[in-house]
Amino acid sequence: MTTHRIYYTDASIATFDATVLSSETVGDRAHVTLDTTAFYPTSGGQPFDMGSLGGRAVLDVVDGDDGVITHVVSGPLESGQAVSGVIDWPRRLDHMQQHTGQHILSAAFDRTCGVRTESFHLGTTTSTIDLAREVTPAEIADAEALASGVVCENRPVRVRFVTEADAARLPLRKEPARSGTLRLVEVEDFDVSACGGTHASQTGEIGLIAVSGWERFKGGSRVAFVCGARALASHRRLRDVVTGLVRQLTVAPEEIGPAVERMQSDARAHLKTIRQQREAAAEHEAAALVESGEDVGGFRRVLVMRSGWDAAALKTLAAAIVMHPGCVAVVVGDDTPAPLVVARAVDVAFDAGAWMKHVTDALGGRGGGRPEMAQGGVTASADDVLAVARHSVR
Ligand SMILES: [Zn+2]
Repeated sequence: MTTHRIYYTDASIATFDATVLSSETVGDRAHVTLDTTAFYPTSGGQPFDMGSLGGRAVLDVVDGDDGVITHVVSGPLESGQAVSGVIDWPRRLDHMQQHTGQHILSAAFDRTCGVRTESFHLGTTTSTIDLAREVTPAEIADAEALASGVVCENRPVRVRFVTEADAARLPLRKEPARSGTLRLVEVEDFDVSACGGTHASQTGEIGLIAVSGWERFKGGSRVAFVCGARALASHRRLRDVVTGLVRQLTVAPEEIGPAVERMQSDARAHLKTIRQQREAAAEHEAAALVESGEDVGGFRRVLVMRSGWDAAALKTLAAAIVMHPGCVAVVVGDDTPAPLVVARAVDVAFDAGAWMKHVTDALGGRGGGRPEMAQGGVTASADDVLAVARHSVR
């Protein structure tokens, strides 16, 4: 026996009475079927209703191929038992707002720029429609404006059942996927679609339809939107972010973009200055370090530890040292892992890349490079790295 679906003809019903036809225990849950239900099962891009059934929590609602709806509940019920069902209304209302909003937004894209909606998904925070081609920001604004107008006009949304032959004579926005009797959802003088979902009864119940973002997707556009209470929540989130930025940057909201651009360009200029000063300082310092280096087997070994330096700064110093002929530089920082740079002057037969591999094999870490310069991070202290260097850089 197929389940009678109360929501098909009246989506405003939040409580109902039914008889349990079967209850099968599965782990700590039960799979319950009823003669009639107002619970919407996951289908057509819309998630299932939650709530309670005979005092048990409804955790999932599944639509079977045989037309039977299965309620996954928190514990078993008695077969033949009379039960009351209570729908979690805020959740259902949210789904109805998003779903009806989707019909209107899809129809608006169809009317303003002749682009079809290929698919629809209702998520827990935002919902999306996938459009058949890419749309421009101006086209999105046009569709959004038309959809908002339809909400403000508070048009009736009606459900009716028609035969396939009758449906063929109606201006359906999309070819119906099913055959046989069709359930049509009609936004008065605006849109007719075949759909099995739950919808608002007046467009005004949607409150607001707002596009929250878009991206390229499979040759078309994926447009995210929010309706009703979600639109208000989204507005509040964005307002709080903007208010925070206005306070931090002490600029008007419309000046946030230019202010961030200025900060980025200032930061780039500062980095450039730091780099130049670091190079000048490294040249100066390198001369003194080379002076105090040790002559070992045909070259001058210069070992350096610099506390708090990052890899870029260590590399600048190593490069400055090996500008001096006959030198090999091992420059290590004291971070964890210890950043390490090894380099050789062009006239020295020493393989920096091979030595880096020797150190990381011996002490752990990662690194690599060419014979003239290599860098990496070693999972040991800077002192341990220098001890290995004293033994093996020769
Ligand atoms: Zn629908």
